[in-house]
Amino acid sequence: MQFQQAPPAPGNQYEDDRVLRAYLSRVLPKDVLRDVEESLTELGRLSGAELYEFQLADRLNEPTLTQWDAWGNRIDKVELTPLWRLAERIAAEHGVVATAYEQRHGSLSRVHQCALAYLFTPSTDIYSCPLAMTDGAARTLLDSGNQKLIDRAVPHLITRNPNEFWTAGQWMTELTGGSDVGLSETVAKQDPGDSTSFRLYGRKWFTSAVSSQIALTLARPEGNPPGGRGLALFYLETRDEHGRLNNIEINRLKDKLGTRKVPTAELNLNGTPAELVKESTDGVRNIAPLLNITRLWNGISAVALMRRGLALAEDYAQKRTAFGAPLSEKPLHLDTLAGLQAEAEAAFHLAFYVAELTGRSETGEISDEDAQLLRLLTPVMKLTTGKQAVSVASEVLESFGGAGYVEDTGLPVLLRDAQVMPIWEGTTNVLALDTLRALRGGDSLKQLQLLITSCVENVSAPNLADAARVVRSSFDHATTWLAEAERAGQHAVEAGARRFSLTLGRTVELALLIRQAQWSKEKESDDRSTASARRFAHSAIDLIWTGFQD
Ligand SMILES: Cc1cc2nc3c(=O)[nH]c(=O)nc-3n(C[C@H](O)[C@H](O)[C@H](O)COP(=O)(O)OP(=O)(O)OC[C@H]3O[C@@H](n4cnc5c(N)ncnc54)[C@H](O)[C@@H]3O)c2cc1C
Repeated sequence: MQFQQAPPAPGNQYEDDRVLRAYLSRVLPKDVLRDVEESLTELGRLSGAELYEFQLADRLNEPTLTQWDAWGNRIDKVELTPLWRLAERIAAEHGVVATAYEQRHGSLSRVHQCALAYLFTPSTDIYSCPLAMTDGAARTLLDSGNQKLIDRAVPHLITRNPNEFWTAGQWMTELTGGSDVGLSETVAKQDPGDSTSFRLYGRKWFTSAVSSQIALTLARPEGNPPGGRGLALFYLETRDEHGRLNNIEINRLKDKLGTRKVPTAELNLNGTPAELVKESTDGVRNIAPLLNITRLWNGISAVALMRRGLALAEDYAQKRTAFGAPLSEKPLHLDTLAGLQAEAEAAFHLAFYVAELTGRSETGEISDEDAQLLRLLTPVMKLTTGKQAVSVASEVLESFGGAGYVEDTGLPVLLRDAQVMPIWEGTTNVLALDTLRALRGGDSLKQLQLLITSCVENVSAPNLADAARVVRSSFDHATTWLAEAERAGQHAVEAGARRFSLTLGRTVELALLIRQAQWSKEKESDDRSTASARRFAHSAIDLIWTGFQD
């Protein structure tokens, strides 16, 4: 008999996930956990079985753009892949967006919804992208108080009925810049006699999920000043009642490294009808609720991709034999996977902590102090987890040897898709600068210190004490560095912003992981999170380079 290698298989992605289950046991009251568990078990099953198999079978399909019909009419028709069409239905039916708005469990509904998104994301090839923007658009419209648009769109964005479900795009980036959106050139011309209806003229350079029914976008009303303040936030519907694009031309779909199922398009807006969402200025500020939600989704997706890679790698280690034993018995292979597990586990706790704060902010239960913490931790979490997703995915591929580099194993896509996490929704540098802005004027660094102190002050296990010391010392180093850099001037602060923000991110991750580890030790007699915390503490937590004066 010839040798045959058994492939990796993910299994029920909820039932097998020690980290998610222990976390939910800690933060959810027992009756809430009982109530949500069925939905998580079912989505975990789908994600590890039918959806995963369908994902592998759909691997070579990509969205297509047909610009002209046979008779010379411009149609700009985008066809999604079968996996994405199925993902849309499953997302709606399982409430992957809706759960956050139904609020069956108050602020904890956001945690429940993020757990669903975390289970759903890795088997649907970044269908999380349109869902994130849909969720962000619902939040932004609800926060805007624009009752007409709320009544028109929000019920569609948060429905569980797939036939009624709409997704939303977010069209910000132009050729002039995705980071510096204040340079946007799209112009808004007001319809005569109507103060809220406009026509948009311009070119949008990256518009993901162009198949969405609506989009929130930025444009400059005629006569407004340059810069971000002069932009306004607009709502538009992509198609008219006959299904024709509303004066929108799709120039092409981008040919990307990853996220290849996502139809990311370049568009011309040739007088596209649009409604003001709020006032006719301050669009960048008014779209912030959307970005906060998409950044949360980015973090949840980053940890979800890490988790999927590890689930496959751990399963494969049982099945692959080398030098007389399964890889799962090789100390060095186990050590390698344990390092990845520690990164993923630490990232998980930061992403879900931001979900907790977001939930409290949405229900109005958040204190001023925690609101400052949320403002600070949203960019910190997004930039830290994005980087971790890329490095973990790269090692995951190596843990399969050559198979990790071969397309039809379905593994390389993990790395390609992870690579977008640090780029979109604000690059690492842009978010590092945003972290500095979050520190201005408020007391958020103090709030962060209180949080990490509360996580580590009651550590009783001696084998967590060293890790707790790393938390204190790296936080102290970060704050000392900031004070010294501020004395040295703005150049020094900016130049070190990435190292500073990543240090904050990794420090708070370690603190949150220690809190969970202590809990699991006491309540579950489980030392696996302790092992992850100890290992993570010995990775590079403090990334600050003190030679900034040079
Ligand atoms: C797959 C994909 C899908 C996307 N989908 C969408 C979408 O649906 N809607 C949308 O609006 N956009 C979308 N984008 C665009 C994305 O948000 C932008 O690419 C991103 O924000 C960066 O903008 P940019 O490409 O113009 O790069 P730039 O802004 O030109 O940045 C180039 C580099 O300069 C750095 N940089 C910029 N400013 C500073 C600074 N002050 N200090 C230090 N470094 C700085 C950045 O970190 C980056 O490394 C998508 C991008 C990708 C890859």
